Amino acid sequence: MTERAEAIAIRDLHKHFGALEVLKGISLTAHEGDVIAIIGGSGSGKSTLLRCINMLEVPSRGSVAIRGEEIALKPNGVGGLTTADRRQVQRLRSRLGMVFQSFNLWQHMTILQNVIEAPVHVLGVPKAEAVARGEALLRRVGLFDKRDAYPAFLSGGQQQRAAIARALAVQPHVMLFDEPTSALDPELVGEVLTVIGDLAREQRTMILVTHEMKFARNVASHIVFLAHGVIEEQGPPEQIFGDPKSERLKKFISSSH
Ligand code: ADP
Ligand code: MG
Repeated sequence: MTERAEAIAIRDLHKHFGALEVLKGISLTAHEGDVIAIIGGSGSGKSTLLRCINMLEVPSRGSVAIRGEEIALKPNGVGGLTTADRRQVQRLRSRLGMVFQSFNLWQHMTILQNVIEAPVHVLGVPKAEAVARGEALLRRVGLFDKRDAYPAFLSGGQQQRAAIARALAVQPHVMLFDEPTSALDPELVGEVLTVIGDLAREQRTMILVTHEMKFARNVASHIVFLAHGVIEEQGPPEQIFGDPKSERLKKFISSSH
């Protein structure tokens, strides 16, 4: 068996906000092709963990490496840490595809402009090439005919599919999803999960925070259950959903049907 490379390696990650310790020593590795679903109750630290991966939050302790490159951190002078190399952070972050709960499309740009913005202005891809690739991505998520529309004219499901196309446009090493369907009306959830499911089947590396348990069970290669800032239990979906060990996980699963 060939060893798959480490896409993301998190070691002993701690994060506190003042006196509140939100992450209490998380270690987690995503290899290329892994689809990791993070589940857990509200406030358990799921978003903070994702935000530490792309340095929207700086860990208080521990390390994060992307494709073997550790993000450089230095003391911030008040007992915490800060990033040490702004250009490194920009470079690494530019190749992480992040999809948030609230779409976050740029409202003053058309759908196609949203998709080509980072390739052209951050990665320096020639415009014609970015447009061709962007149109292909929009076709993939079923939005080619909406390429010249502004976000406000799209449904929530369409906006989220556009946000996924935009994230894919930087040819990301890893896709990070933070509850991508939880702001959607129920009838729009399916179309977004279909797009994410297709990406998972292509074995695109991804870390997905979700409340959609059935979906997590179907698409993830690995499930991580976070509770009170620690990984309470993890394993393949069959084990986590079929044979949970910890009482907290049992309770969580039975309450999320
Ligand atoms: P989850 O995504 O699992 O619901 P979060 O990671 O968003 O949880 O939040 C975990 C805890 O950290 C919560 O108690 C939240 O209020 C707190 N928290 C998150 N971000 C901040 C912040 N920037 N400042 C202070 N507290 C925060
Ligand atoms: Mg969250």
